[in-house]
Amino acid sequence: MKSYNQFSAASRREFMRTLSLGLGATLVGTSTIGGPLSWLEESSYGPATLDALQSRKQLGVALVGLGKYSTGQLAPALQQTRLCKLAGIVTGTTSKAAQWKKQYTIPDKNIYDYKTFDRIADNPDIDIIYIVLPVGLHAEYVERAARAGKHVICEKPMAPTAEECRRMIAAMQKSGKKFSIGYRLHFEPHHQEMMRLGQQQAYGPITKLTSDNGFRFGNDTPWRVDKELAGGGPLMDMGIYCVQGVIYTKGQLPVSVTAKLAPNPDPKGLFKEVEAGVNWQMQFADGAVADCRTSYAENMNSLLRAESSRGFLELQPAFGYGGINGRTSKGPMNLPNVPQQARQMDDFADCILNNKPTRVPGEMGLRDVQILQAIYRAAETGQKVSTKDIQQVLDKTNSR
Ligand code: NAD
Repeated sequence: MKSYNQFSAASRREFMRTLSLGLGATLVGTSTIGGPLSWLEESSYGPATLDALQSRKQLGVALVGLGKYSTGQLAPALQQTRLCKLAGIVTGTTSKAAQWKKQYTIPDKNIYDYKTFDRIADNPDIDIIYIVLPVGLHAEYVERAARAGKHVICEKPMAPTAEECRRMIAAMQKSGKKFSIGYRLHFEPHHQEMMRLGQQQAYGPITKLTSDNGFRFGNDTPWRVDKELAGGGPLMDMGIYCVQGVIYTKGQLPVSVTAKLAPNPDPKGLFKEVEAGVNWQMQFADGAVADCRTSYAENMNSLLRAESSRGFLELQPAFGYGGINGRTSKGPMNLPNVPQQARQMDDFADCILNNKPTRVPGEMGLRDVQILQAIYRAAETGQKVSTKDIQQVLDKTNSR
């Protein structure tokens, strides 16, 4: 399929001229990473995306669950997206519905609660349903969204169990619509650089990786320490970033894991259902190892680091919504921080418009849940647990 960058220079110049003559201000806006058109110049969007931009068509997104992530990140990001926009909401709280309706000018016909949600099937304003609920509810709502015949993004981690992940994938396959996981960092320049340098072995084959991600949990979102709603503790919520980062930097799947639970400071209270922290190791077929830590009892300066015989590459802080800082043994990466969620959602819209596969599919969500479950099994048994049978999917730098 022809990508944007394969368009002839003349047609691209003509398109840019059209934008600069008036459409540009509304369609392309001001990029945070350069001039007003740099977003388009840097992208590899498909031809249908250019048509959508020219005809000012944006896909409609409905956010399901208006908690902290929707409020603080996704709704603001949907004011920056070019290919999709906030068109609807699903909430159980009447006061939130009223506030969002006013703040984002959402018509009543695009506002649902959890009982009326299935009627979204009949709403042509909604193309994409984005599930931003506690993890234990992801499967039910993805299956309902699939039955509604909409494209779906589901937040991470995909579900508490691999069995639920498989059900979600099957439901989406049956619907024939696109399905992705809310893995925002695959669209972030520092993480893309880690993928590129690691996978291309710019400093030789990676032999050792280290990754930390954790924070002191204050119980502001109690579902995160409820086993049924969260599937587990910090490993599910924060450790998943370490698992992902290690895999896409190394460019291989682990063959086994070992793990040990961290001391639990409140086993009868906050952490009575889920772990307070985990230290684990992922082993690779070529002998490389990744040492990782996660916690709800300790603020960690998030880290993703890879070492090889000829140098190192490192992000610290590594996993935030911004402020990511990268360096290698040759010096600083000097890369921009960008609106991650806006890029992630625009990429998904581009996949829909051009019928391309997403680089963060449901199968990748399943793979990660399988690894997280293997880590829990390793911690429970004290044994090394094989991961050879996990879903074989990788985000390769040259996969698109
Ligand atoms: P939150 O608690 O702030 O929001 C959850 C929302 O779900 C609330 O609006 C709540 O009212 C609603 N809800 C519906 N039924 C519920 C129930 N039975 N129990 C509890 N809440 C219920 O949580 P959040 O931090 O916004 O997380 C939501 C999802 O987003 C989770 O899957 C989480 O892992 C994910 N998340 C992803 C990122 C990321 O960077 N990709 C960051 C934060 C959260």
